[in-house]
Amino acid sequence: MIRDSKLLVILICVVVVVAMAPAQDLDRTARLLEELTNAAGPPGFEGPVREIVVREFEELGAAIEYDGLGSVIATGPGSADGPRIMVTAHMDEVGLMVQYVRPDGFIRFKTLGGWLRQALPDQRWVIVGSAGPVLAVSGLRTIHVTPTGERNQVWPLEQIFLDVGARSAQEVEAMGIRPGDPVAPWSPFTVMPNGRYAAKGWDDRVGIAVMLEAARRISEGEIQTPNRIVWVATVQEEIGLRGAQTSVYIADPDLGISIEAGVAADYPGARPEQAQERLGGGPGMFLLDSSMIPNTKLRDFFFDVAEEEGIPLQGDVLTGYGEDGAEIQRYDTGRPSVNITVPTRYLHSHTGIIQRSDFDHAVDLLIAVLTRLDGSTVERLSGF
Ligand SMILES: [Zn+2]
Repeated sequence: MIRDSKLLVILICVVVVVAMAPAQDLDRTARLLEELTNAAGPPGFEGPVREIVVREFEELGAAIEYDGLGSVIATGPGSADGPRIMVTAHMDEVGLMVQYVRPDGFIRFKTLGGWLRQALPDQRWVIVGSAGPVLAVSGLRTIHVTPTGERNQVWPLEQIFLDVGARSAQEVEAMGIRPGDPVAPWSPFTVMPNGRYAAKGWDDRVGIAVMLEAARRISEGEIQTPNRIVWVATVQEEIGLRGAQTSVYIADPDLGISIEAGVAADYPGARPEQAQERLGGGPGMFLLDSSMIPNTKLRDFFFDVAEEEGIPLQGDVLTGYGEDGAEIQRYDTGRPSVNITVPTRYLHSHTGIIQRSDFDHAVDLLIAVLTRLDGSTVERLSGF
């Protein structure tokens, strides 16, 4: 009973806060971030994100190609005939896949990408079935029936399920849901104080947005670059860098720049022994991750350009994170490659947080580097 009245107070507070929040007054960049993060695109099911990416590149007059897995490869305009620079980010996000439907209408699933088990129950999801999106809830067994000894346990995957409001397997089927359908988190984009944005899927929609913003500014003719820039939006990164493995053959890069959601470790419980980025500290660069060590000359080139331009750039040494830059690095006989990030809190969950100034600085840094790279610089960075 006490628990119920507390809940009521919380609900009233939430209603008041929502009612008091001003309507979101977003600029074009924030609207793009909103659209990209709200789109559902688990690994292998990137269609809704791909539509946005292709639309944006077509608006710029870019030529579009695809690899055999569905990655998007866009070139020009504003691209010259110099060295081929592959700028890449991935379209997919961590999600789930419908495994089977129980006779009582509850749904079992498998994970696509790395999830902490404790992040799975008690959330809202979208199942993208043949009849359109269906809201699902990963039900939490209520405290009232959970034995004391089990209240602090992390539940195994086999005990978690999705509830779409159906009473039978037949009703689930009638909703257009089948085994193999993708499931994405549902967590609408929201503006927070201090220029911070909360949303799902920052990994790696924030990288996609950095790429699109840089491409827009270059194609609008503000910026001249002597390079052939190949913009690549990959698929299936979260399950093993698969789209980067295939698209790199079309991009055929001399040098690669991957853009990712970084790992901010600036909140209670996170330690510098794990990661060192923080919100508001500017973009980051992985100096070590579990998939690669960046080319040292290219690494230094980025830090020099950042210093010249007055753009903050944070280094991050971490493990337990692989990224598409590694596939560029190992292309053909090997290429210089780095991974640049926008620091992100709580990634691979329902709601992460980024800071707009870090995003804007990442775009500025990418453009500054792309305008300085040329044939002789790329040759120097590639040599030993
Ligand atoms: Zn990622």
